[in-house]
Amino acid sequence: MFISVIVPVYNEEENLPELFRRLKESMNAIGRPWEVVFTNDGSKDSSGKILKGFYDENPETVRVIDFNGNFGQHMAIIAAFERVRGDVIVTIDADLQNPPEEISKLIQKIDEGYDCVGGVRKQREDSFCRRYASKIVNFARDKMTDIRMVDQGCMLRAYTRRIVEAIIASNERSTFIPALAYHFAANPTDVEVEHSARLAGESKYSYYKLIRLNFDLITGFTLMPLQMFTLFGFFCSFMSLLLVFYLLFKRVVLGEGIFYYAPYAVIFFMLGILMVGVGLLGEYVGRIYQIVQARPKYVIRESYGFEESKGGK
Ligand code: UDP
Ligand code: MG
Repeated sequence: MFISVIVPVYNEEENLPELFRRLKESMNAIGRPWEVVFTNDGSKDSSGKILKGFYDENPETVRVIDFNGNFGQHMAIIAAFERVRGDVIVTIDADLQNPPEEISKLIQKIDEGYDCVGGVRKQREDSFCRRYASKIVNFARDKMTDIRMVDQGCMLRAYTRRIVEAIIASNERSTFIPALAYHFAANPTDVEVEHSARLAGESKYSYYKLIRLNFDLITGFTLMPLQMFTLFGFFCSFMSLLLVFYLLFKRVVLGEGIFYYAPYAVIFFMLGILMVGVGLLGEYVGRIYQIVQARPKYVIRESYGFEESKGGK
């Protein structure tokens, strides 16, 4: 069983040497053939050079994809997915928050017959705000989509080849890989893993980037927000219709004046119709959005260790 480890890298020069040393150690300890594919996601520091160095020293085990810009962690992983050789594919962060020593736990689960193994961070070493924000997002994802994950933010995960191929075939532009994997998994499971503070550097995710990522997660897996809008529109129209009947009753049966209330009924009714309209429009746009993904997902500047010609895909 060949194991491919994928590491997305964005400005991680201080962490790379230590990561690679520990990765080599723990992969050799597992004792199966393996490779590592680093994707340099447009780093502005010397990460690219360091990775090239890894490749020059270990052309058998190391391969490097060098993006021509910053396309995001998930695209970095997708690019590697499209090129890995492994029967089992492991993703891990470059900042050593996920200890490489824990990979063996994931592999063990794959051996037991699971096809998608998620790491669950036992004791999460992130800021209070990050942890709290994650809780909210986890809750929303759990309620709104059919994706059941214990720890969606943990990127220490293992997949079988079949799952990875399904993810590639999805050909999505903005995606959330763990959720997509769960979507395709027949037999997913979770396993507890250690979590440490970043070895060096800062998180590459600003709050804005996190929010965007989570919008990808929600819109990628459910149309419920749009449907809620439509339903609310129907609700408004229905309520104002009741108001119209009530006012008619007052006017016709009781003979009271309704001069002040009548416009409200009409306005709310129109508002309701409008909302339904916008909601329906959104439904269509949402569906189109799910289909239109024609732009290249990423552009490669250079790659080392691959047979393909250099350049984009
Ligand atoms: N990363 C990336 N592209 C980006 C942002 C991050 O390839 O645009 C990589 C980063 O180098 C790291 C992993 O994705 O290996 C996770 O990033 P980070 O540790 O900053 O996220 P956090 O742990 O704060 O969620
Ligand atoms: Mg991190």
